[in-house]
Parts: sequence; structure tokens; C-alpha cells
Amino acid sequence: MSVLVTGGAGYIGSHMVWELLDKGEDVVVIDNLSTGFDWAVAPRAKFVLGDIGDMKLVTRVIEQNSVDTIIHFAGSVVVPESLEKPLEYYENNTVKTRNLIQVAVNTGIDKFIFSSTAAVYGAPMTSGPIREDAVLNPMSPYGSSKLMSEIMLRDTADAHGMRYVMLRYFNVAGCDPDRRTGQSTVGATHLIKIACEAALGKRSNMRVFGTDYETADGSCVRDFIHVSDLAAAHYAALNFLRQGGLKFTANCGYSRGYSVLEVVDAVQRISGNKFPVIRDQRRPGDIPALVANSHRIQSRLSWTPRFDDLDFIVETALAWERKLEGIRPAVAAG
Ligand code: UDP
Repeated sequence: MSVLVTGGAGYIGSHMVWELLDKGEDVVVIDNLSTGFDWAVAPRAKFVLGDIGDMKLVTRVIEQNSVDTIIHFAGSVVVPESLEKPLEYYENNTVKTRNLIQVAVNTGIDKFIFSSTAAVYGAPMTSGPIREDAVLNPMSPYGSSKLMSEIMLRDTADAHGMRYVMLRYFNVAGCDPDRRTGQSTVGATHLIKIACEAALGKRSNMRVFGTDYETADGSCVRDFIHVSDLAAAHYAALNFLRQGGLKFTANCGYSRGYSVLEVVDAVQRISGNKFPVIRDQRRPGDIPALVANSHRIQSRLSWTPRFDDLDFIVETALAWERKLEGIRPAVAAG
């Protein structure tokens, strides 16, 4: 049997593929390369170029590769972009996920692991760690598109006996400690990637969006999880389902927040480059503080974080950014 990883040419998906291969699994990837790269897919995985909304193609891939589990990463992930292009987000994240779940039902897949997000919570009532039973009130089309998929998966699982895990990611960063893959997205908007690009001179400066929030230093606070810990959490989720687990939804984070300014400081310190930082206006859609309560995942899955260390996250992110220069020419930015 094999595991189908959708979006396996992307940032988190490509780490997942390595995690599965390292554990001796057979892996097939479907990716339309809209933001991913075929070279990011580990050579031992089977790669199929295509779209997860294409029900005929996905059916064929599942049948030809004896797939019994889907780990679904493919989707659009940028909060501000979702405010500008909501229908694109509902198409990529909701409509296509609906098709994928339909194919899963048609082909008798009984294990489904879904990439969800802390954005489903919207602006939490607390600035402290958020539990999974907090109110779900997304503030962006990105968060809404993911919440709709969560609901579809839950309802379909109840009706058709599918078992599932939904993991709500907080802020994912860093790269594979062995540097086999990393965050390669062109025109990335995520904080640590942007700061690393500035540190390596790929952009002349960076901007901090909002320093007047009601947080300790005025900038937003996020819970950064190392991408390899996140991939390991999915593997633990797979084992949970294989051992008969029925359904499980959990946050993925370290229960600890760092402010944007603290992150920028860490990148400057570790890179040794005090690149210019511009204090700018708030960015639409940003939530002041998003920190996971990660008690549930740690108590219910056999998963313990290995890289709960901002410096390590930044070191690996910087290392990948350097390696990327050799893989493809630096993209001019900023
Ligand atoms: N951020 C920033 N400058 C940047 C990119 C991001 O100040 O160039 C801030 C952003 O406004 C937010 C935080 O960093 O407060 C995390 O944003 P990111 O886009 O990395 O992830 P999100 O939390 O939106 O998923």
C-alpha cells in the first residue's frame, strides 16, 4: 500500500515525503507545480504532475498505486492574498478538497490527514495559548476556506466511515536538518523566509507590519514550529489511524510565542547581518497573537517536538536560503 501526498512538491509536503521515505513507506505525490518544484520531490517518491481537483486523474493514481491513505497539503496559504483573491482560495482550498474527498469516498480510502491552520480560530478571545475547542471564527478567506474543508471532511467521515486527522498548523519555518528540501517558494511572504532573504542580501531591507499592537513589544506574536517536527506529527497521525484511531483534531505548535521583532533580531544575530528593518503599517488580516496550546497532540499522539528552538529554526532556514542560491538564481525582491 502507498501514501498519497498532495502538494508533495511544496514546502511542507516535500518534507513529509522525506519523512515517509525515511520510515520505509511507499509514496506517490500529486502536485500541479503552481508553487512547488518537481526537483523538491524526493527521487524515490513517484511524482504525478496534475491537479487534485481532477477527479479522473486522482482516481487513477489511487487505483494504480494501491493508495490507502491521503495526506492532503495542496492548497493556497497566504492570508493577505486570500483577502484580495477570495474566490481563488475557495476554489483551491475548498472546491478542490471537496473533489478529493469525493474521490477518497469513491475509491474506499479510509484514512485521511488534512493540513488545517490556526487561521480557523480568527482573533482568539485570549492572547494566551489557544485550545482546539476555542471558538472557530476565521477572519480571512484563507481561514474560512480551510474551516469549510474541515467541516466537509468531518461530515463525510461520519457518513462514510472514513477516519481522519486534522492538524491546525501555527507558523511553520526552518528546513530539513539534512538540507534535502526547504522553503523554496518564489515571492514568499512568510516572515522567517523574508528575514532570511534580507540577511543574505536577496532583498535590501524588510518591513515589520505593525508595531502598535497590544503585545509586549507592539509587534504580532506567533508560535513557530519547525517543519520537520510538523512532518513527524503527521507520521504520528498516520500511526494513530493505522492503530484504529477514528478522528482527531489538534494544534501543531510549541505553546510558545515569539514577536515579529524578536524573530527579526534572531535572524540578524544568527546571520551576523544587521539588515535595515522598516517599521510599517499593520497588514490587513493579521491577528495580534496566535499561540498554540499543544497539550492535546502531545498527550494523544506519540509525538514529542525535537526542534523547539527558534535559533535552530532560523539556522536551518538560513542554511536552506544559502543552498537555494545554488539551485536557482536568487529572485530579486524588495
Ligand atoms: N510579517 C512582517 N513582515 C514580513 C512578513 C511578515 O512583519 O515581511 C509579519 C506579519 O505581519 C505577521 C507575522 O509576521 O504579523 C507572521 O506573518 P506570516 O505571513 O509569516 O504568517 P501568518 O501568521 O500570516 O500565517
